[in-house]
Amino acid sequence: MRMWGAALLMPLAAALSAAQAPEPAATGAARIAQAALRDPSSYALVESLTTEVGQRLAGTAADARAVEWAKAKLGAMGFDDVHTESFPLTAWIRGAESAEVVAPAPQKLALTALGGSVATDADGIEAEIALFRTYAELLAASQGALAGKIAVVTQRMVRVQHGGGYGAANPIRRAGPSEAAKRGAVAYLLRSLGTDDHRLPHTGALSYAEGAPRIPAAALSNPDADQLERLAARGPVRVRLLLAPRTQENAQSWNVVAEAKGRARPEEIVLIGAHLDSWDLGTGAIDDGAGVAIVATVGKLIASLPQRPQRTVRIVLFGAEEMDRSGPAYGAAHEGEARRIVLASEADFGARRVYAVLLPTAVAGSDFAKALAATLAPLGAFVDPRAPLGGGDDIHQLQKAGVPVAYLGQNGLDYFDIHHTADDTLDKIDARELAQATAVWAAFTYLAAESDVDFRAK
Ligand code: ZN
Ligand code: ZN
Repeated sequence: MRMWGAALLMPLAAALSAAQAPEPAATGAARIAQAALRDPSSYALVESLTTEVGQRLAGTAADARAVEWAKAKLGAMGFDDVHTESFPLTAWIRGAESAEVVAPAPQKLALTALGGSVATDADGIEAEIALFRTYAELLAASQGALAGKIAVVTQRMVRVQHGGGYGAANPIRRAGPSEAAKRGAVAYLLRSLGTDDHRLPHTGALSYAEGAPRIPAAALSNPDADQLERLAARGPVRVRLLLAPRTQENAQSWNVVAEAKGRARPEEIVLIGAHLDSWDLGTGAIDDGAGVAIVATVGKLIASLPQRPQRTVRIVLFGAEEMDRSGPAYGAAHEGEARRIVLASEADFGARRVYAVLLPTAVAGSDFAKALAATLAPLGAFVDPRAPLGGGDDIHQLQKAGVPVAYLGQNGLDYFDIHHTADDTLDKIDARELAQATAVWAAFTYLAAESDVDFRAK
């Protein structure tokens, strides 16, 4: 009897002392990571968003439907607060788009208008092309050198796991149209910023420069850029281009915000974001339905904990990342709060595994970094001691206001094969990889919210 009594009492005593002593933060982080791995929510959310809403071009009726979707989903997840914050924008809506080689060998070209591009005349533009194999060669052309021509830049972006090839090539799409216009071009075509070899062009936003004529601009699929290179090597090439996008002034979009208040220091905020809008060609599964699914699931898991972490966890689903509007709008509206946002991160790099976390330099080598590393090891991820590559487009404005950012690196080796194309659809997402990314984000967010570490550089 006494043996039995002791055997029964000891686990009870152990359980009682465990309830009295505060649980190590790493234990809670490991538990929430395991819960995320088992939770089907992340895949279910991106499945629901891409099926029930589909594409979500900012400022359109589809955007408004996505916001209603987000409010309903987040509203059922146990947050203390779910609300929207609207901001104005000019919506851009794709229209008919086509192009063809007229001479010397008539054939169709696969391309798509860049977001923000002006339209051609109703019957299109026909002109000889001036082809540059690198962007630097275009920039080296003198004023007037491209008069009456369609400028074409066929520089390839480089495939790397962390996606840095995209940033390096980005000016070709962003600034290229105005640089070509300054030199006299009547239209601008670029090789898609994409790493695939399919005939699906990759869209994306351009930024017209003040003072330069606004010319129509579109992205060619990779094989079509190759074809123009071969044709141009043989002699003059004439191309016809028709683009018929339109704009809608005085449109609006919304950032959708949800919070799980902290139990001890609710005024301190750990912010995790993703963007709800997408381009219109696919259904925005990897960009950025996956990010929406990751941060919403993390928020749900934290909001439903029996004991919340010390700090508040805030989820922001940004409304117009692709149009470069939601980050600036959020940053301007929350500038006064920047001191209270202790850390921010954004999930906007697809649905694959997170392999590394890069923390603000202020916590390099700290106990926080060590605890995170220990938590991530079983998940197949590590803490990279280098400084973050950047937080993400939507939190860039907060970063400029002094908010520390962390970078969670997902495997992006094939991300730019489908990014911004008609192929960005749900079938590209592996539910287990998405759950792993969600687990890493959950462990990271929980630890940051439970700790009292200062992520700001001293
Ligand atoms: Zn994105
Ligand atoms: Zn995008």
